[in-house]
Amino acid sequence: MKHVKLSSPWLGAEEIEAATRVLNSQVVNMGIETKLFEGELNNFFGREDAKTSCVNSCTAALHLGLQCSGIGTGDEVLVPTYSFVATFQAIAATGATPIPCDVRFDNAFIDLDDAKTRLTSKTKAIMPVLFAGCDQQIFDIYQFALENNLRVIEDAAHCFGDEHIAERNGVLCFSFDAIKNITCTDGGAILSSDEEVTNRVKDVRLLGVIGDTAARFEGKRTWNPNVVEQGWRYHMSNLCAAIGRAQLAKFPKIREKRQKYSNIYLSELCDIPEIQLLPINAKTAVPHIFPIIIKNGKRNELKAFLLENGIETGIQYKPNHLLTYFNKGYDLPNSVKLYESILSIPLNPMLTEDDVLYVVSMIKKFFNN
Ligand SMILES: *Cc1c(COP(=O)(O)O)cnc(C)c1O
Repeated sequence: MKHVKLSSPWLGAEEIEAATRVLNSQVVNMGIETKLFEGELNNFFGREDAKTSCVNSCTAALHLGLQCSGIGTGDEVLVPTYSFVATFQAIAATGATPIPCDVRFDNAFIDLDDAKTRLTSKTKAIMPVLFAGCDQQIFDIYQFALENNLRVIEDAAHCFGDEHIAERNGVLCFSFDAIKNITCTDGGAILSSDEEVTNRVKDVRLLGVIGDTAARFEGKRTWNPNVVEQGWRYHMSNLCAAIGRAQLAKFPKIREKRQKYSNIYLSELCDIPEIQLLPINAKTAVPHIFPIIIKNGKRNELKAFLLENGIETGIQYKPNHLLTYFNKGYDLPNSVKLYESILSIPLNPMLTEDDVLYVVSMIKKFFNN
C-alpha cells in the first residue's frame, strides 16, 4: 500500500556535504557558517533596510523579538488562540501575558474586531500568525498596531519564501525546524528593520554578552564579558547554519514543489461542496501546510479513511486557550469550530505529483460515498 507522509524535510547529498564540512573543521559552534547564512538570508529577503539574525528555533526568535522590542512583565500581547503552542509559550517566557483572540473562520487569521475588544492600557504588542501562509489581512494588522501604538511581532513560521515579506516593517520570526519550508534541523531567524531590535538580539541570543556575536564571527571568544540584561542561549551553531545554507540554495526547487502541489489541491478540491479551502495564494506564498475545512462534520471520518488508505493527516492546531496553562475561561468560538473541522493533508517536497493526485482521488472517493 502507498504511504503518503504529512510532512517531511528534503535532505540529501548537499546537506550531508555541508554537515560533513563543518564536522571535519572541528568548529561546530556558532561562527563563520552562521555569519554566512545570515548574509545569504539578507540577500534572499532582498531588503536593504532589514537584517536577519539566526537563532536556534522560531520559539527563540519570537521570545527575543518580543524582549528586544521592550515587551516584558506586566505587558499584554494580543495573539490568535489558533496557533502552535510555541507562539503562546514565547510570549509567556517574556513575563508578558498572552491575550488569546479569536480568528476568522474563513482564513484562520486573527479577527481584528475581536482583538479590539481586548485592548487595555497594558496592551503593548500584537503577534499575528500567518496560518498556512494566509497573509491577506496583514496590512490591516499593521494599521491597527499603528493606531493603537502596538509593536508587531509576526509569527511568520509558515511564511518563509512569501513574496510579500519585503513589504513589512515589523519583527518577523521564521522557523527552520525539521518540517518547515527550509530546515537547519532546528533553527529560526528574526528579520527586522529596527536597528535597536537587531543589535539587541545579537547580544541577547548569546546570554546577553555584549559584542559576543562579532567575536564569534571572527572565531574568537569574549574573555572579559559584560552583560546588561537577561540573555539566553539561543544562538545558531555552525552545524545548523551549514545545513540551512544548503537548504537555502535548494529553496527554488522546494518552492516549486510546494507551490505546484498546493495548486493541484486548490484546483482539484475547490468543487467539493463539503470542503472549504483557505485563501492560500500558492503563487506568491510557499505553503508550509495545506489545511482544508470539512463542513459536514465528517472530519474525523475522513481522517480515519485517509489513514486506512496510507495517507497521513494532521490537525493544526488545538486553540491555546483550551490548554490548561493558558485557559482562563475565554469563549473563542471560531477557533474551536476550526479545530473541530480542519484537516491538514500531505504537503512536503518529498512527495511526487502522483502522491498528491492519489490524496485528491481518495478525498473525492470519500465524499462520493
Ligand atoms: C513551527 C512553528 C513555531 C515554532 O517553531 P520552532 O522553530 O519549532 O520553534 C511557531 N509558530 C508556528 C505557527 C509554527 O508552525
